Amino acid sequence: MKKESRKVIIAGNWKMNMTPSAAKTAVARTAELTAGKDGCEVVLCVPFVDIIPAVEAARGTNVKIGAQNVHFEEKGAFTGEISADMLLETGAEYVIVGHSERRQYFGETDETVNKRTRAALSAGLKVILCLGEVLGERQSGITEEIVSMQTKLDLAGIPAEQMKTVVIAYEPVWAIGTGLTATPDQAEEVCALIRKVVADLYCDEIAEALTIQYGGSMNDGNAAELLSKIDVDGGLIGGASLVPEKFAKIVDAAQA
Ligand code: PEP
Repeated sequence: MKKESRKVIIAGNWKMNMTPSAAKTAVARTAELTAGKDGCEVVLCVPFVDIIPAVEAARGTNVKIGAQNVHFEEKGAFTGEISADMLLETGAEYVIVGHSERRQYFGETDETVNKRTRAALSAGLKVILCLGEVLGERQSGITEEIVSMQTKLDLAGIPAEQMKTVVIAYEPVWAIGTGLTATPDQAEEVCALIRKVVADLYCDEIAEALTIQYGGSMNDGNAAELLSKIDVDGGLIGGASLVPEKFAKIVDAAQA
């Protein structure tokens, strides 16, 4: 399969920003600015309380709404957590799993990332699975080992047919929210590696069809070059997704 036949996805991760009323306005503005830009799928992953107003504001537009986390149990005594079924009923289509901030601040491990991914996929959500090396790992020359291991552990036990609704976001942790971006060649090298690991785990067809995003200080100035790389099929965007005008320019860069 050629890169052109893979689905390009530009997804925003709002993190802990935007109240529900601000979310409504920002989704509506993003939808307005990205209307008719059908060269990629446009997704905004918003805080839990923003999902319902965001889904409402996105209705009838090309913007899809996602969450930023999901619990792996169906229900029960897990105070503060949200299940996959709950998310699905709000109208959320996507969920980010394994973001480095969850790994760093909330004790996520590859084991819990895998459990969350499996629960979300089984419920019918599409998963944006985040992985990537920290600065020390890159400096020690073990990026390949770390990313391969994360890919294998995070996808463990996921059946081949569910891979159709998995997106992998390669996010070098040192590039997230820092203004430091991986060079297009660094992004390509690791996205190609992830595709190879997925081919070994499943098959070439699944690996070739998989959308692999780059995330880490992507902006309207660097998006086009990153997205031109053969194995980079989109972006996961934090800071720049909070400003609809900036985010829309990244969507524009993905139209080629
Ligand atoms: C992210 O939150 O996934 C991210 C890539 O953030 P930023 O674009 O701000 O680096």
